[in-house]
Formats: sequence, structure tokens, C-alpha cells
Amino acid sequence: MTATYEILGLRYAVMEERYHFQNFILPVDDHASMDPMDFLLFAIRGNGHTIVMDTGFSPESGARRGRSILRTPAQALLDAGIDPATVTDVVLTHMHWDHAGGMQYFPKAKFHIQAAEMTYCTGVCMCEPFLRRPYDVEDVRAAIDALYSERLAIYDGTKEIAPGITLHLIGGHSGGIQSIRVPTKRGWVMMAGDAAHYWRNIRLRNPFPVVFDVGRMLKGYEIINSLADGPDHVIPGHDPLILKTFPPLNGNKEIVRIDLPPIT
Ligand SMILES: [Zn+2]
Ligand SMILES: [Zn+2]
Repeated sequence: MTATYEILGLRYAVMEERYHFQNFILPVDDHASMDPMDFLLFAIRGNGHTIVMDTGFSPESGARRGRSILRTPAQALLDAGIDPATVTDVVLTHMHWDHAGGMQYFPKAKFHIQAAEMTYCTGVCMCEPFLRRPYDVEDVRAAIDALYSERLAIYDGTKEIAPGITLHLIGGHSGGIQSIRVPTKRGWVMMAGDAAHYWRNIRLRNPFPVVFDVGRMLKGYEIINSLADGPDHVIPGHDPLILKTFPPLNGNKEIVRIDLPPIT
């Protein structure tokens, strides 16, 4: 491992009114107990690169779905010293509303996505309301606009986008969700995103209920684990434990340094 990077986890929204059964298919304890969800962006920086992982949701889309924000995703990045207006690389793990709803914050960015995700969110599966529900058509249109203005890089599987940083097609949660592998001083970290919402999904092999192909989701857990240097090197997409596990950036408790060893 040569180049290593800093990884930030930035919380911009939280959903307190959420229940265990909304996060796990199998009941493990009290399925009706509360189980909040955090909404985070992630940023990878170092060696002259700043790469943002996902764009968050827009306040309008959040209001439609009854989710309020603590700060806009753009403000969360500004709080970490990252100006979204100048960011040149944004990885879209998948096109769900809470990941692709902030593309407008990144006017200079090239967006990186898997071909399987674009095919999925513009194809026959979107005739099914259950599968279409996590998507906003405005975001899909924004991705197509980016494609036609040469701002969408589309991959068919594994791709290195900066020295040592690779994208990996996982699937399962959506048709073409991808995760990011990042070299850090503490080893190889897998930024799973929604390929594993909570540590308990991947550690207990208890899948998240928003799923396209549960077999691929479970296989994806294997792939993610095999590419990370240990259980603490797998970073889920929505787990409130992330902010409790890693050290804050400059005392800001809403931003944590995931490239550093856990503090709990
Ligand atoms: Zn998702
Ligand atoms: Zn999500």
C-alpha cells in the first residue's frame, strides 16, 4: 500500500422515528423497538484528490418523505473545509433519492456510476412501484443530463478512480450499487454505502428490507468483507454507531475521521 487517504463521515440528517422491522428482514429481538437511522455523506481526501461519496437528499425531497435535515449536504461538506462547488469527482453508489438528490451541489463534478445502476433505474424494473419507490425521477433526469454533457463516467465492474481507490459493483440493494475501497494508514477500508446499511445487517447476515435481489445482497456482504482488513474496516451507509465509533474532526461531533482507529 503506498498512497493513503483521509476518510470523513458527515451526518446531515437523522430519522429518529424508525423501527427495527424497517431495518432488518428477520426479527432478532423486539422487532417493534426503535432503531434510528443516520443520513451521511462521506469524503475521501489526500494525494491531491478530493472524492465525495454520494450527494445526499434535497430538502424538498426530504420534506416529501417526512425527513428533516440538520444541515444541507453542501453545508456538511463546507463544515469540513470542502467546497462542493469545486469538487471534481463524486461517486454515486446508486441512484436512490437519499444518495443522488444533491447532484446540483456539484456543478464542476464528474459523477462515477455503474452501468448496471443506470440500466436498472431507467429500465423495466421501474414499472414496479415497490422497486421505483426509493428513486426520484428528478435525480434520474439529472444523471441523464450529466451523461449527455460528458459528466457521467459509467463503469462495468471494478475501476480505479485515483491511486489505490477502487469502485466495486456489489448489487442486491439496487440493480447496480457499488462500494468504494480506500487505502488508509490503518489498512484497507470498504465504504459499503447501502450495500450494508447497519453493521448488524452485515455482521448478523440479516438483510435490509429495501432490496432488489436478496441473494446478491448476501453475496455482496461476502465481497465487502473480503476486500476489507477487518470488521471495523467495513463502513456501513446509515448506522448511527459510525459517529460514536470514530474520532470527531476538530471537535465537530457531526463529522468523524473514519481513516483513524475506532475510539470505542
Ligand atoms: Zn439505497
Ligand atoms: Zn440510503
